[in-house]
Amino acid sequence: MRPSLDLIWIRQDLRLHDNPALFYGSGRPCLVLFTWGDFTGSGEHTSVLAKAWLHAALKNFAADLDHRYKAKLIFYPGTLLEFLDNIKLVADINKVHWNHAYTPAGIERDTFYQTALGERDIEVDTHCGNLLHEPWEIQSKNHAFIEHFSPFQRLYFDQLQHRASLDYPAHVRAETVKGVNYGSLKDLKLITDQKRYDDLLDYWDISEKAGRDILKAFVKDRLQHFDDSCEIPSVQATSKLSPYILWGQISIRWIWEICDSQTGGEEAKTFLNQLLWREFAYYSLFHNPQLIQEPFSKDFQRFPWRSDAGRLEAWKNGQTGYPLIDAGMRELKQTGWIHNRVRLVVSSFLVKNLGISWQEGAAYFLDHSIDADLALNTINWQLVTGCGVDSYPFSRILNPISQGEKFDPEGIYVSHWVPELRHLPEKWIHHPWDAPADILKRAGLKLDENYPRPVVDFHASRTWALDAFHSMNGADEIYGTA
Ligand SMILES: Cc1cc2nc3c(=O)[nH]c(=O)nc-3n(C[C@H](O)[C@H](O)[C@H](O)COP(=O)(O)OP(=O)(O)OC[C@H]3O[C@@H](n4cnc5c(N)ncnc54)[C@H](O)[C@@H]3O)c2cc1C
Repeated sequence: MRPSLDLIWIRQDLRLHDNPALFYGSGRPCLVLFTWGDFTGSGEHTSVLAKAWLHAALKNFAADLDHRYKAKLIFYPGTLLEFLDNIKLVADINKVHWNHAYTPAGIERDTFYQTALGERDIEVDTHCGNLLHEPWEIQSKNHAFIEHFSPFQRLYFDQLQHRASLDYPAHVRAETVKGVNYGSLKDLKLITDQKRYDDLLDYWDISEKAGRDILKAFVKDRLQHFDDSCEIPSVQATSKLSPYILWGQISIRWIWEICDSQTGGEEAKTFLNQLLWREFAYYSLFHNPQLIQEPFSKDFQRFPWRSDAGRLEAWKNGQTGYPLIDAGMRELKQTGWIHNRVRLVVSSFLVKNLGISWQEGAAYFLDHSIDADLALNTINWQLVTGCGVDSYPFSRILNPISQGEKFDPEGIYVSHWVPELRHLPEKWIHHPWDAPADILKRAGLKLDENYPRPVVDFHASRTWALDAFHSMNGADEIYGTA
């Protein structure tokens, strides 16, 4: 007899715990499927690093499914539609379960499947799996789009309550069906650079268990000090959960519940706000999908961005001559991750001191971050530029020297990532070009030989940026430097 099955379509929800699609789809005989072809078609997560992370995450997710439920994950290189067309030779699929996607390409894909599956008489069962709330459920009083974080946050705390997280499914009744090719992870060809993959595994343990262990350790040791130390890049004060959240290896609701339950949630407030910024980014992109390319503030379409390949390369390679910028960009290149404060400083520098467009920076980050998230990346690049929702004023131009002195006063972070500077005294580490010749000599530093002089003068470039901003729209802002 032909088996009659449900299908659980796994995407960016590589976890067993609080996974609504898995939870609600696993009660009947089912198949659990991952289709790589639906990602390649969307152009998302195609960087070497993203694919490497995905490879390791899928490997561990499949092992967890097998270990806990004796259930197999099907690795399919093509699309869901191709899979359904193949499987109909040996089995009937009644219903497909998935958790919602929110990027423009993800929404387009899921809308297409809603129709395509309907035409094949296959039911669809979809869930909110990766956000606290659906972006379309968040409504201001007058139903207008909420452009600022504070009213969004107020609305959230006053009116919205997310549903409680779900437990692990009791069973996953995944069938082994004769005639179905279960494939192998290798068929997806996700590792395109073995060395980068091996390097990634040196820095990260890419499993659901690791995500939960990180959360546990963060809550135990760091959450109550988060407010005091989350701005210091040399200490591990933040959770470093971003890549796990991106791939749904940990549930956002679970993170919220665990942190909110700590002594009434007070000590977790700053951290919970970070999670709300994530919700705000998704909400903003959902209602304004054009933001991936276009600034929220239309005036910025007239901004006279520069095209300067040499400066862009210096920024990408951590060779700008500004130690904090170079440390951040080298950390990104090596590990795929940077601290939020450093992301703010390097992005401000690219846009406002090098005069290179936020789109160039955002594309580079997407290509080189292991937590490359279209919503968070887009909204934050626009915020730093001053052209997005709830943006900084354009005139807030972060000075890499004073930011370094404030957030890395002993130069610990800079010395780690820019070892050429490690023998310089603290006093000079954020502006080595000002150090007297004998100090440079003792530190083994030869400017323009083993470390570059600044690629631009901070003050001159700041003046250029402010003039460019004024020429764009004649705005009457108060100049200021952070
Ligand atoms: C220019 C720029 C680009 C960015 N691109 C990304 C990106 O592609 N992917 C990404 O995950 N984050 C991005 N961020 C936001 C932030 O830098 C990272 O989320 C954070 O550094 C991740 O470290 P963490 O997990 O230790 O954060 P924690 O401080 O521990 O915060 C926990 C979680 O809250 C969310 N969060 C924290 N800060 C922000 C924020 N400013 N905006 C929205 N959500 C936030 C993230 O999901 C994060 O993992 C970007 C920030 C900037 C300034």
